[in-house]
Amino acid sequence: MAGRTGNIILLGMIAGAILGVLGGLFIGDFMLRIAFLGTIFLNALKMVVIPLVVASMIVGVTSLGDVRTLGRTGLKTLAFYFATTSASVTVGLILVNILQPGTGVEIWETTVPDFVAKSGESGIVDVLVGLIPPNVIGAAAEGKILPLIVFSLLFGGVLSAIGDKGKPVVAVFEGINAAMMKIVHLIILFAPIGVLALIGGIVAEKRDSFEQLVSSLGMYSLTVILGLLIHALITLPLLLSILGRKNPWSYFMGVGEALATAFTTASSSATLPITIDAVENNNKVDSRAASFVLPLGATINMDGTALYEAVAALFIAQISGIDLTIGQQIIIFLTATLASVGAAGIPHAGTVMMVMVLGAVGLPMEGIGLIFAVDWFLDRCRTTVNVWGDSVGAAVIAETSEMKAARAS
Ligand code: ASP
Repeated sequence: MAGRTGNIILLGMIAGAILGVLGGLFIGDFMLRIAFLGTIFLNALKMVVIPLVVASMIVGVTSLGDVRTLGRTGLKTLAFYFATTSASVTVGLILVNILQPGTGVEIWETTVPDFVAKSGESGIVDVLVGLIPPNVIGAAAEGKILPLIVFSLLFGGVLSAIGDKGKPVVAVFEGINAAMMKIVHLIILFAPIGVLALIGGIVAEKRDSFEQLVSSLGMYSLTVILGLLIHALITLPLLLSILGRKNPWSYFMGVGEALATAFTTASSSATLPITIDAVENNNKVDSRAASFVLPLGATINMDGTALYEAVAALFIAQISGIDLTIGQQIIIFLTATLASVGAAGIPHAGTVMMVMVLGAVGLPMEGIGLIFAVDWFLDRCRTTVNVWGDSVGAAVIAETSEMKAARAS
């Protein structure tokens, strides 16, 4: 939300987070009792994700005019996302090799968390097959965004191609899009309370396990956080100012509500409505770029997750006393990147994908149980970086020659 109200809401969210931490620590039982307010906030966000993504993508695609413009923009988006994800994995690998957070750490009994064990391994073929929804309504009902993106791209492209017959349909989606944005504005008004309740609830729940963040897992957590900070505060701002021609600080403040929501919900998908609003309305990025780049980013572009996968895999190798060769580290680089593409934008999705990364180089799966102890916190940090990376991507793609041409026509 732009303007003064936006600033007040952002301050409210920050105050909500601080009060949530204090409340969770000192009046935990009360915070647990009001945690349902956070669930209402989260549900409200999830409620608008599907109609908003479908409508905004269809409107975005039809306003591009030409399928070739869409194709070239799509390729540039994928290239940018791949480049930033690779940069972030590289930072993670360098840090974990230098800092060696797992050396000298004693292994303790752990088991693979249930939801990870049940998930089974998914590889590149599953990701590809999952792109085409056998049932569009089913995909929507299950909240699967990626197949809906594919459908919306196709639908939008075809609506443009059929000319006059498509126009009334496009007008309907324009109306839906505008209405959904309005609902997002209403939900944002509730954000400070939502943040307070969600943060308060999680801190109250985890107050006994805080020491893990600073104990044997402390160096590991620190390595992940340091890597995320380098990526978020150096790599992405550089790209934003050079390629996206934006002032990183004001852009960062503009998406503040989205970043705070990402940290609070640990879900890029649930944050998506606020990201779209912040990028388009606060940062004035061309909606044709944002409506296409952001939903895609929320599902396939996870710089923070990729960095975490790489650091976690090497940490597990280090505590298990396994020396990984350069070749094996390259395999980790590739699988961490792939895992971040395949991970859904929901809490702990990255942890589930660890199965694939560890499996690729034969590392013990039990390690997942170990790092899971601090995942409630690291998940929030990496989701914030994931959303920041998507937002930067939108600004960069809006500056491509195709988008400039689309604006001029
Ligand atoms: N929670 C992350 C997200 O939604 C995914 C992950 O677990 O890394 O972006």
